[in-house]
Amino acid sequence: MTQNPIFNNSFFQQLPGFYTALAPTPLRGATLLYHSEDLARELALPEELFTSAGIWSGEQLLPGMQPLAQVYSGHQFGVWAGQLGDGRGILLGEQQLADGRQLDWHLKGAGLTPYSRMGDGRAVLRSVIREFLASEALHYLGIDTTRALSIVTSDEPVWREQPEPGAMLLRVAPSHVRFGHFEHFYYRREPEKVRQLAEYVISRHWPELVGEPDRFTLWLADVVARTARTVAQWQAVGFAHGVMNTDNMSILGMTIDYGPFGFLDAYQTDYVCNHSDHQGRYAFDNQPAVALWNLHRLAQSLSGLMTVAELEQALAGYEPALMYAYGEEMRAKLGFSRRDKQDNDILTGLLSLMANEGADYTQTFRLLSQSEMADSRSVLRDEMKDLAGFDQWYARYRRRLQQDEPDDLTRQRAMQAKNPRIILRNYLAQLAIDSAQQNDISVLARLHQALRAPFTDNPNDDDMAALPPEWSKTLAISCSS
Ligand code: AMP
Ligand code: MG
Repeated sequence: MTQNPIFNNSFFQQLPGFYTALAPTPLRGATLLYHSEDLARELALPEELFTSAGIWSGEQLLPGMQPLAQVYSGHQFGVWAGQLGDGRGILLGEQQLADGRQLDWHLKGAGLTPYSRMGDGRAVLRSVIREFLASEALHYLGIDTTRALSIVTSDEPVWREQPEPGAMLLRVAPSHVRFGHFEHFYYRREPEKVRQLAEYVISRHWPELVGEPDRFTLWLADVVARTARTVAQWQAVGFAHGVMNTDNMSILGMTIDYGPFGFLDAYQTDYVCNHSDHQGRYAFDNQPAVALWNLHRLAQSLSGLMTVAELEQALAGYEPALMYAYGEEMRAKLGFSRRDKQDNDILTGLLSLMANEGADYTQTFRLLSQSEMADSRSVLRDEMKDLAGFDQWYARYRRRLQQDEPDDLTRQRAMQAKNPRIILRNYLAQLAIDSAQQNDISVLARLHQALRAPFTDNPNDDDMAALPPEWSKTLAISCSS
């Protein structure tokens, strides 16, 4: 028999003054709609926990949990926004896993907190499903992210443009500390608290640095490197986060806080998924620059812990780390097993063809994965209008493949393991939401299942791998979540 999970809350115990102790406010008539069985297994959770909404709706706490709302600040859309904090999220506790990992359980949509500002402390089912699916999608694409364990829905209406079902998401991550936590105490001129939080984060997540005289610089350099890597992976898979405010940037460099995110359908470098982002600050191709801007805000908050030269040295690692990671990702997507100086030209050649054609980003790479060195025909050709342009590019691409080591079969397999067949297209998420709002979770479950094996050819989910239908192009994602 599996035992109940063991909880602790080091944030609660070690950081008084960094939060408000507060229990979740349960939703009326809450029911457990869906949960991730894979994650439940990974966390060694007993099945009995999932027989009622108790824990998942904030009704019930498990022994050892010490619920709290964290305080943080941040820059939103490039402007200092002052205090933000967990306005609708409660950190319930940290699960202690048998393998030594400690994971935050964070309940989103858990009611009013002192940081709710004008908000109602709630989340709606639509946005909870989107976050659930997106974090699962990124995880199974190999991108570092918070995980999603459960979705609760309720009879309690939550008002957005109209009444919608109130919902909660149980999110799991090694940490919920954001760049904005450090900014908060820096702007309040509490350098001792900046230091205390930095020491806490280092001891929890970079234990190898504890006691090192250079620990702050080494730590910041690693935050920079991790952030660069995550953003490079977003760019490679065609993911736009949509709200890269500094309060939505994880100190662990992982993806956090899914709002109006989007995956590219047609390749469009200036794609903006967030409809309230009128300037296009968080456009797809701006993400690498924005992450660096955000890292500068973090570095400024840490300026009491390091010399300017040390801060600059840590930040200087960003560009090389980003370029390295992006290069590795894209070379793998193109099926090149080693570097060559023409690779960048070949990549930009393909990207500009795709941009001109409005070609689907995911499907183009998936079809390219079928290429054969000796065969000048390509299934991709049928998708193109500029045949001369494609033929010229493809001839060069094939010459490059011929210079590489792997045979066709080996390379095709490697490319298929890198170029997803199924991604979380907006319209797919919308179909799952529409059914779930009618209490039918079969569409959600089927999509979730497909996203857990995004690289596998499965004839049963051909519909989800196909190009998005025409109607999906007019789908607007509301920002009110
Ligand atoms: P976001 O951009 O969604 O990550 O949220 C920015 C800030 O607004 C955070 O402090 C959130 O806790 C807060 N917030 C968002 N939605 C709500 C809500 N419905 N009620 C209270 N606070 C909210
Ligand atoms: Mg946020």
